Amino acid sequence: MKLSEVFNSHKLSLSFEVFPPKTDTAFDSVKTATEEIAKLHPSFMSVTYGAGGGTSRYTLEIAKNIKSTYGVPTLAHLTCVSSTKEIVLSKIEEMKNAGIQNVMALRGDLTPELEASDRTTWCYRHAIDLIHDIKASGADFCIGGACYPEIHPESRDQKEDIKYLKEKVDAGCSFLTTQMFFDNNLLYNFLYKIREAGILVPIIPGIMPITNANQVERAMKLSGSFMPQRFKSLVDKFGTSPSAMKQAGIAYATDQIIDLFANGITNVHVYSMNKPDVAEKIQQNLSDILG
Ligand code: FAD
Repeated sequence: MKLSEVFNSHKLSLSFEVFPPKTDTAFDSVKTATEEIAKLHPSFMSVTYGAGGGTSRYTLEIAKNIKSTYGVPTLAHLTCVSSTKEIVLSKIEEMKNAGIQNVMALRGDLTPELEASDRTTWCYRHAIDLIHDIKASGADFCIGGACYPEIHPESRDQKEDIKYLKEKVDAGCSFLTTQMFFDNNLLYNFLYKIREAGILVPIIPGIMPITNANQVERAMKLSGSFMPQRFKSLVDKFGTSPSAMKQAGIAYATDQIIDLFANGITNVHVYSMNKPDVAEKIQQNLSDILG
């Protein structure tokens, strides 16, 4: 199923994100975790491409398994910046042949080595270059892109970020998923600005349940997200107790999601990080709301 169908149904729903194993030996445990999440029947599941140290060659295998065994629509991520045309075009072909219908087209993060390299030799500089290649391949994918309520760390300002975002959408994105954020007002403010700029595709807010204190610093560094005082107090108070921190982090994420639904958002994407217990708990917390 194409995700545009999911978003057009206007039903309140949750989707979950998983990432491929970091090593070959971890494959079985990751597969089991993704299957446990699939059994919750989310509106869809996304499978990252190498993000967080995951091995990108398993993205397709995990996405195919979730779709064929559990009937859950999948969104396979694909990054381009450190790749060649040959590899990217063969990945697009592989996805097409595997019956994947939804692709998240991403640039990928710049490693220090890439940053130091000669950019004129890069095949892909931005996600929009990948979107052009996906479109040119003739594959009929529903394409998603990433967006940043608190602006992308490399952008000069929000105006510039939104200008490039509009170009990305016009190139062929049917929806956008946001970077994590911990203050919903940032999302509402962003939505206002992008709608004003003529970006009208569905926006899927990405919510990261922070379930242990170690995750906090890494998540903030990765995303550059603002940490509201309410969230800081929670980490200060419960960060040293793993079980209390988990409960508090799930409650905070649940609260954010309820507020998003109450304010007109229909699908929320949860960065569930291969944690079926966290995904299940959030879904249970919302059972009557999701209906
Ligand atoms: P782009 O859209 O290319 O934007 C990157 C920067 O370039 C922005 O500052 C933008 O304003 C600017 N820009 C865009 N177009 C142009 C242009 N034409 N000219 C000049 N400047 C331009 N990483 C992974 O490795 N694997 C994953 O699976 C993964 N999944 C993600 C999912 C989501 C929802 C999000 C939010 C991020 C994900 N990432 C993933 C991280 C992502 O790769 C990084 O955030 C990366 O730094 C930017 O990717 P992008 O696709 O947004 O890039």
